[in-house]
Amino acid sequence: MNENLKKLNIETPVYLCDLSKVRSNLNLLKSVAKKSGAKILCALKGFAFSGAMPLVSSELSGATCSGLHEALYASECGFKQIHVYSPAFKESEMEEILKVAHHVVFNSVSQLLLFKERALKAGVSVGLRVNPESSASPVEAYDPCGRFSRLGVRESALKEALGEFPNLLKGVEGLHFHALCEEDAESLERVLEAFEARFGEFFGGLKWLNFGGGHHITRAGYNVKLLVKLVKDWREKYGVEVFLEPGEAVGWQTGDLVARVLDIVKNERQICIIDASPECHMPDTVLMPYRPRIKGEVAMMDFERAKFCYLFGGATCLAGDVCGVAAGFEEYFFEREICVGDLVVFEDQIHYSVVKNTTFNGVALPHLAVLDEDGTLRYIKKFGYEEFRRRN
Ligand SMILES: *Cc1c(COP(=O)(O)O)cnc(C)c1O
Repeated sequence: MNENLKKLNIETPVYLCDLSKVRSNLNLLKSVAKKSGAKILCALKGFAFSGAMPLVSSELSGATCSGLHEALYASECGFKQIHVYSPAFKESEMEEILKVAHHVVFNSVSQLLLFKERALKAGVSVGLRVNPESSASPVEAYDPCGRFSRLGVRESALKEALGEFPNLLKGVEGLHFHALCEEDAESLERVLEAFEARFGEFFGGLKWLNFGGGHHITRAGYNVKLLVKLVKDWREKYGVEVFLEPGEAVGWQTGDLVARVLDIVKNERQICIIDASPECHMPDTVLMPYRPRIKGEVAMMDFERAKFCYLFGGATCLAGDVCGVAAGFEEYFFEREICVGDLVVFEDQIHYSVVKNTTFNGVALPHLAVLDEDGTLRYIKKFGYEEFRRRN
């Protein structure tokens, strides 16, 4: 890959998405949809890479959006069905949302009371997000069912509200939960048990259930068979449509962040300063935290082969802006020496990294490019000073 990129004379930093890999993720998701009858939506929160959207919108059933901006984007990208959920909708944005949305999911009893009639009048299918109080998230920041979570209505709160507003669920066509993060179908099975135990009494008369995101369907080894079985069973048992809304699984391992070594300094270790920044361009490696893989690095078990050791830091003034620091392991090992001007390819940086990046410290945003299915390199967007200027 590095040799190829060198030949292509690639401009760095750049997020480079391989459309043939997006295609193969979509093929897997489509086969899940076909076998199970699930409707699969792309969660734009996790994957909204413009260069891949024509493909994604044509192959999946729709998009799930976290508010007005993602909804407008979904509409612009031609998604067939647009679902919108937000922890709290703004009065001033509701009208525009209802113009493009097919489904709207409210997060609380109060928001449902505030907007339900308006949504129904607009002909939009109304849902309520509930908190199944069961999840297996690896990190607290990614656990929507944790203590004090603001995401979704708890069983106790819903029952209490129904005492006061007996017609609360009248007109509501679906229930939604989102409780998973990078998880297998076994975790979904456990959450579904909790969801059914707490909210099963409300399923009668519903048109749809939304099992949220966090299904790591495209990861090697994911139990696709179990997922298909669960969706089928639930569709048959309750006579509902089932929606899945993965983000990460759509963009999983579909591309890289390509950077270049600007300088190499020494302080006990050799430290490469690169034109990408973990803090700005790979923020999930800091929050999750995890250590991004670099193409060509020697795997941990082959330590003996490693002749060279490097750290990789951004060209920012943040001391901790070093790859792998948050995960507690910042040394990378290589068989070959790295030199100034070399390309460094951080693997799997297309989902979440792109939607979350920043211009902190005035660093340039990585360009966006795709490798088309025939292997040609195509720049989608190039960013410069203007991005920083506009945001400050
Ligand atoms: C984040 C999110 C998703 C997508 O989650 P992934 O882990 O990227 O699959 C789907 N639905 C909701 C409500 C979310 O908040």
